[in-house]
Amino acid sequence: MERYVIKKQDLLHNIQLIQAKAGTIPVWAVVKGNAYGLGLQHMVPLFCSQGIDRFCVSELHEAQLVRSLAGSSVSILMLQPSSDPAMLAALIELDVICSISSWENAIALNQTALSLGKMASAHLKIDTGMGRYGFAPEQWQQISTIFTYFDAVSIIGTYTHFAAACNRTQTMRQHSRFSQLLEQLRSAGCNPGECHCCNSAAFLLYPQLHMDGVRIGSAWLGRMADSCKSDLRRIGRCESQVVELHHLAPGCSTGYGSTWTAVRPTTLAILPVGWYHGFGTQRSHPPHSFRSCLSEGRTLLRTYLRHSGPTVELNGQQCPIRGRIGMYHTAVDVTSLSCHVGDTAYLDLNPLMQKGLPIILN
Ligand SMILES: *Cc1c(COP(=O)(O)O)cnc(C)c1O
Repeated sequence: MERYVIKKQDLLHNIQLIQAKAGTIPVWAVVKGNAYGLGLQHMVPLFCSQGIDRFCVSELHEAQLVRSLAGSSVSILMLQPSSDPAMLAALIELDVICSISSWENAIALNQTALSLGKMASAHLKIDTGMGRYGFAPEQWQQISTIFTYFDAVSIIGTYTHFAAACNRTQTMRQHSRFSQLLEQLRSAGCNPGECHCCNSAAFLLYPQLHMDGVRIGSAWLGRMADSCKSDLRRIGRCESQVVELHHLAPGCSTGYGSTWTAVRPTTLAILPVGWYHGFGTQRSHPPHSFRSCLSEGRTLLRTYLRHSGPTVELNGQQCPIRGRIGMYHTAVDVTSLSCHVGDTAYLDLNPLMQKGLPIILN
């Protein structure tokens, strides 16, 4: 039976490593996307058991689930800004901290809170270079009026998000824009509250930027760019069983498009897992310019030369995948391996990509 297995020991290792590195700085567990695919129902109790009491979410139903799993004492920050009164009312009732990224958000949150007769808490979202949400630092005067005019909104934090944390120059530039804004707010008599900017990569690379909190997502999974060198363990793989051993004579090919042809007698182990389950699918970014097209090509070439595509481990060995991965099938070369029907294979698979597999935490 195919299943997605998360080793609890590895997860605990990562949590403890991150906490040790954060020291006394509060850690926000970013659990958007159903806790990066690992499942809120698994992850929230585990985080709580390790003393984590701050969560970032992107959807209302996630906020509701975190509240019911973790109780009333944890802080929940909604990263997704909103001006929708129904959404904001639900968040205020749940005692969730909202994100204010525009003047419209601020007005809507204040009015909704007033109509409920409650105070809303919020963090300000500042755009220092991501270019999606948030006030520009140049708008600091408008931002300062949020502190003075909106009686039903309490600003308890201010944050920004890095666009390319692995790029040091760009990140330092973003951070200095953020710091300047904070100074301007303070000199205008506004208290920006808890200030935070680091995602996982920035957290690992720049301890000097930890400020009053860090927002950690992908680092829990240990799935980071190589440049973030750390001792985090890679989380999550699919377990599957060999359903058929298939012999190919030289000249015979396997899979759609017949893209791979045997040059010697070959034994293939067939696994009933494919791209439907997310195996071998990667987030791809369509190239926007000739330059990015070249860089995509370079990445593909490197993947080919290093054989660093999707991997399958069978009986302790990494086995090459032959032909195209099908919707429900993957063929791996076990010619030089002792292998039987029913043997267990381990497929590396990002939990965010996996689909249709039962998740087992053990
Ligand atoms: C998703 C997200 C994070 C977490 O990013 P990772 O790189 O996965 O750690 C942090 N902050 C914000 C605002 C996010 O949207």
